Amino acid sequence: MSAVVLDGKQMSASLRAEIAGRVQSLKEKGVTPGLAVILVGNDPASEIYVRNKGNGCREVGMYSETVALPGDTDQAVLEGEIDRLNRDPRIHGILVQLPLPAHLDEAAALARILPEKDVDGFHLLNAGRLMTGEAGVIPCTPRGALHMIRQTGLNLSGLEAVIVGRSNIVGKPMAALLLRENCTVTVCHSRTANLAEHTRRADILVAAVGKAGLITGDMVKPGAVVIDVGINRVDGKVRGDVDFDSVSAVAGWITPVPGGVGKMTITMLLQNTLEAAERMV
Ligand code: NDP
Repeated sequence: MSAVVLDGKQMSASLRAEIAGRVQSLKEKGVTPGLAVILVGNDPASEIYVRNKGNGCREVGMYSETVALPGDTDQAVLEGEIDRLNRDPRIHGILVQLPLPAHLDEAAALARILPEKDVDGFHLLNAGRLMTGEAGVIPCTPRGALHMIRQTGLNLSGLEAVIVGRSNIVGKPMAALLLRENCTVTVCHSRTANLAEHTRRADILVAAVGKAGLITGDMVKPGAVVIDVGINRVDGKVRGDVDFDSVSAVAGWITPVPGGVGKMTITMLLQNTLEAAERMV
């Protein structure tokens, strides 16, 4: 079997065209959706992500602003900037680029963002809403991954979903989303015994670990949907957590890296910002 490749670039392009149309409608009502990204320090990877977010905004006609703060910024200054953006009517979405330098309190910074402007969906209120099934902001990466899973056309209800990774930004919200789709969800992590025994049962397998090539073809159920969230730099190249060659020979669908979930993440950030602006009109 050779898996169908779920193309994040193509899916993003069609979603962005739809987002651009809705941005235009808002502009006709006098509102331009606006995203502010706070970047502390000069981590090169973070700088690239922030630049891509700004480019994404421009592509769909949104306003974007980057607040670049020096690496030795203290907590009070950071929270002061968040307060300012919370009050700014041009800004509908605020994102604090993670990770923050070690001396800063990440949880306190995220809690400072108004929940309705929390377009990353990391505020405790939005995390709680997702867990309890109430409407709220869904974190971008799992939201993008779910969109890709839906493109298979499968009825997700009753399927076995196995997620490898239990972070607050990917693994846990992904589990909550798939549970909401009535999948039977297993979450694996670094202490899981016999990882392959779990992954082999999965109709939907999501890898969000940060270890290049961890998931190999012998760990995958024939015909499964395999979603590779991992971004790992190996010898100057970007690789996922899934060994594409061996897994694509077994799976029914697979996302590539690059050109898969990563592309969808920024698109979902634009979607969350648009929806935040629509709610505020
Ligand atoms: P974290 O480091 O926060 O979490 C990694 C998870 O993987 C942890 O739950 C850890 O377990 C688990 N883990 C580690 N080793 C193993 C192992 N050998 N077997 C099973 N589980 C293991 O990472 P993130 O969730 O933030 O990110 C995961 C990956 O996704 C990274 O490569 C990251 O770069 C990428 N990423 C990609 C995005 C995108 O847009 N495509 C967005 C965000 C992240 P434990 O909890 O026990 O430590």
